[in-house]
Amino acid sequence: MSRIALSRTGHRYGPAGAYALEPFDFEFDEACSYALLGPSGCGKTTMLNIISGLVRPSEGKVLIRGQDVTDVPTAGRNIAQVFQFPVVYQSKTVYENLAFPLVCRGWPRDRIRLRVEEISNLLGLDESLGRRAVGLTADAKQLISLGRGLVRDDVVALLLDEPLTVIDPQLKTHLRRKLKEIIGRSKLTVIYVTHDQNEAMTFAQQVVVMSAGRIVQRGTPEELFEMPGTTYVGYFIGSPAMNLFDAAVSEGGLRIAGATVPVPPEWLATAPEGAFQVGIRPEYVSFADASDPLAIPTRVLGIEDHGSVRVLDVEIGNARAKMKVDRETSVPEGPAALAFAPGKLRVFVDDRLVA
Ligand code: ATP
Repeated sequence: MSRIALSRTGHRYGPAGAYALEPFDFEFDEACSYALLGPSGCGKTTMLNIISGLVRPSEGKVLIRGQDVTDVPTAGRNIAQVFQFPVVYQSKTVYENLAFPLVCRGWPRDRIRLRVEEISNLLGLDESLGRRAVGLTADAKQLISLGRGLVRDDVVALLLDEPLTVIDPQLKTHLRRKLKEIIGRSKLTVIYVTHDQNEAMTFAQQVVVMSAGRIVQRGTPEELFEMPGTTYVGYFIGSPAMNLFDAAVSEGGLRIAGATVPVPPEWLATAPEGAFQVGIRPEYVSFADASDPLAIPTRVLGIEDHGSVRVLDVEIGNARAKMKVDRETSVPEGPAALAFAPGKLRVFVDDRLVA
């Protein structure tokens, strides 16, 4: 049984408003981590708040372990939520903050102590247990917010809504690593909202890509990278984005931006008729020997240095493409040749991936 199911669930803020979330079905599995990923306004927070009960969906149902909870308030759903801004009692100590949900549930003092110690150990907050929250850094406060969710033993799912937004850049890396480790060990169903693809790809086993109130694709980070179901996902996932070109079959290969790109004959045999698009990730473009029958003539137009890798701006016909190379790759000046890695060219018709 799925842990959380959304059934024909949709939402409009106000009866005449547009859908913030178009009706859809979705199941979140037990002990799996999900990232809801998409640009601002695509409906991520609305979906999260529908699951936690902060928003009642205007259509459809929410089921937790098979039970319809659509009209059950947040407090009755056993869901822990961490928001952008840490929610802590500033004047209480770290220990008191972590213990508070258990005190409210009437746990005996000894049991509370054991559980708080277990969670503070997991979060790396042992040293701070006696300190007041008010003097702590933002990342420590966000860990306390997380701890207040984890400390309960009745939590069905942990929801995180852009929890790293207000964290200083230098603390972000530490907190991101810590969150990943804790989430991995928690065995909870975790749903993490972000517009940052790196965060989504780092944290989640399943990434749910959203656009304009709709789920456009779900999959593992690898599936989304290798097999984007649409040009939108190809463009949204990956840094830099997938190179996309209008293409047509021509004698000797593919016609792309006024150039003929040679491709293997077996590839051409399966190409769609009429107009289509092809996509290739910058990681799968490399320099080739000009004598290679599949070489594509090019010229390097620009170099961006990203430290361990370099992103090159290259010419294909009258279009530009990106390629990603390591530091050791020598970058040719003047006319050069490119190759696309075998099996990595993707074909899209009307922006949808063709198998
Ligand atoms: P962000 O990353 O900016 O938080 P999001 O993907 O989480 O965006 P939502 O906050 O769910 O998106 O918003 C989806 C749509 O619903 C947007 O058009 C937004 O303006 C609208 N919306 C959100 N909350 C309300 C509200 N309380 N009343 C009216 N419209 C709202």
